[in-house]
Amino acid sequence: MRPAPFSYVRPRTAGEAVDHLAAAARDGREARVLAGGQSLVPLLNRRLVRPDLLVDLGRLPRLAGVLADGTGVRIGATTPHAVLEHGADPVLRHRLPVLAEAAALIGQPPVRARGTVGGSLAHADPCAEWCLLAVLLDAELTLLGPDGTRTLDAPAFLRGRHRTALRAGEILTAVRFPHAEPAAVLVEYGVQTGRLPEAAASAALTLGADGRITAARIAVAGPWEVPVRAHAAEALLTGARPEPDAFAAAARAAVAAAGAGGPSGGSSGAYGDSFDDSSGPSGGHFESGELASLAEVLLRRALAGSAGRARAAAVAHRPEAVAA
Ligand SMILES: Cc1cc2nc3c(=O)[nH]c(=O)nc-3n(C[C@H](O)[C@H](O)[C@H](O)COP(=O)(O)OP(=O)(O)OC[C@H]3O[C@@H](n4cnc5c(N)ncnc54)[C@H](O)[C@@H]3O)c2cc1C
Repeated sequence: MRPAPFSYVRPRTAGEAVDHLAAAARDGREARVLAGGQSLVPLLNRRLVRPDLLVDLGRLPRLAGVLADGTGVRIGATTPHAVLEHGADPVLRHRLPVLAEAAALIGQPPVRARGTVGGSLAHADPCAEWCLLAVLLDAELTLLGPDGTRTLDAPAFLRGRHRTALRAGEILTAVRFPHAEPAAVLVEYGVQTGRLPEAAASAALTLGADGRITAARIAVAGPWEVPVRAHAAEALLTGARPEPDAFAAAARAAVAAAGAGGPSGGSSGAYGDSFDDSSGPSGGHFESGELASLAEVLLRRALAGSAGRARAAAVAHRPEAVAA
């Protein structure tokens, strides 16, 4: 099928892009941003979205790029997943290796070459790797609109399945991961490789000199409208030994606190009720309760993986610990 007719502009600056979007909104025309097109183009082809205007961000060099700054990293919205996957920046690899690992899990190589980090966040699939990590790692999202710039945290930005806080005329310009979390891990399960997973979990543990957990981050994705950060489960782990019983209790608590989730497949947010994402999980394989149980199992694995990574980092910094 072919898309319904639309006008197309390729602005030279982010400000110009916002001007086009704002003018369309004023005229009552529907405008959409085009980034890598990996989610939007299939929707256009199937006429599930019918914008009057496409504003292509693909050629805005200043919106792309990865910059390690202070303790964290800033990623321009139009940075393709593959740049993170193959990025050789040693600072980034050391501080947040999970970013490259998560990028490598997305779709197939052509999807990773074209699809962008900002596009994934704006598309807001509840199981998208970037959405999960944004929630886990307290990401800060920068939006540019007719009234200037604003910065939101991930829970404020991700409002529901395919639903964000982006207002008419606004674009996402960057996401910043402000903390180094060298032990962060993301684990996911999908029925079909090369598509979005059915459920995912991520964790980042910090261990003290006595081997106990001094800080924990936990987030799960599955049947929920957005990825869920599990603060109560994190508190359960703080001070505990990084052992399977503690991980099992925390995973149970995390999923219980997240709730049973909505119906599998859920509402369709910004794209209308007939929305069926060709990049999404193949669908229909699991009830929402089963997806929650799957997320619990994945979280136990993520916690164990993160503990292993944190132990290895501790040994690397204190070689004498090997002998102890
Ligand atoms: C076969 C296949 C498998 C896939 N597997 C996965 C997977 O495993 N994990 C995963 O996370 N994704 C997956 N995807 C989706 C892919 O990662 C997309 O790249 C991503 O969802 C959207 O990024 P994009 O740059 O292509 O955005 P586009 O498709 O261009 O846009 C997507 C949406 O975001 C909006 N948008 C884009 N950029 C901005 C911006 N800067 N500001 C405001 N709005 C914006 C668009 O208007 C549109 O509504 C898959 C896609 C395919 C086709």
